[in-house]
Amino acid sequence: MVKEKDFNMERNSFQYENRTIVDALALNTSGISLSTNMNKLLILDLDGTLYDFDNGKTNNFKKSRFYQEVKSNACKFIAKKRSISFTEAKKVYERIFEEFNGEISIGIEKIFGINRYDYFKAAFNLKPQDFIAKKDLLPFIKKLKTSVAILTSAPRVWAEPVLDYLNLGEYKNKLFTGEPDIRKPSALAFKQVCDSLRFSPINCISIGDQVETDILPAKSIGMKTILVKKSSPEADFSISSLEELPKVLKLI
Ligand SMILES: [Mg+2]
Repeated sequence: MVKEKDFNMERNSFQYENRTIVDALALNTSGISLSTNMNKLLILDLDGTLYDFDNGKTNNFKKSRFYQEVKSNACKFIAKKRSISFTEAKKVYERIFEEFNGEISIGIEKIFGINRYDYFKAAFNLKPQDFIAKKDLLPFIKKLKTSVAILTSAPRVWAEPVLDYLNLGEYKNKLFTGEPDIRKPSALAFKQVCDSLRFSPINCISIGDQVETDILPAKSIGMKTILVKKSSPEADFSISSLEELPKVLKLI
């Protein structure tokens, strides 16, 4: 569920380097929009939705080789920064994971003062081709003939090469990543996407593979929702693969 504290988090992450125009636009939560687009905006999740983990061998992020690599990189990074052993760093990782609800970048910044961008650069220093089956998604996305944004909890250092790899590089300016404090599953993360692209939530459709992060928060602010690759009564629609998306969109 969306936690109350998510709405109250300070947006101090925008003081960090690597700020993009999209990040800055996402700050426009004043409600003062010059106009609101009446067309539909699809808000697509990235990892596990636009591609399957481990070349399609699993859809479970935590069990994926990809996650294990990120975690291993994260522990090496913590070990180096804190001058501790890898085994000790793993314990630190688990503690932070527990305390910060899986948000390691926020935890190590708060506890040790380590810049989250340094962490992301080290932990997500991975090549898409080692984890993702090659696919050209551009014709598929273009055929939907609707506005598209991508909202991910992953950092830009990973998400941008993934978009390039899936031939979706032209959507980098509609890419909202997980560097700020406000991330999925906060409903505010979805609200910021709407506001910055000037769409009302009722004209947005969230599409993703996780009920807790892609469906519940979007639903809580009035968006339509489509769960991909699994089924849940929480979502307006559940589809077994992305290929079914055009069919379902006709019903919304
Ligand atoms: Mg996902």
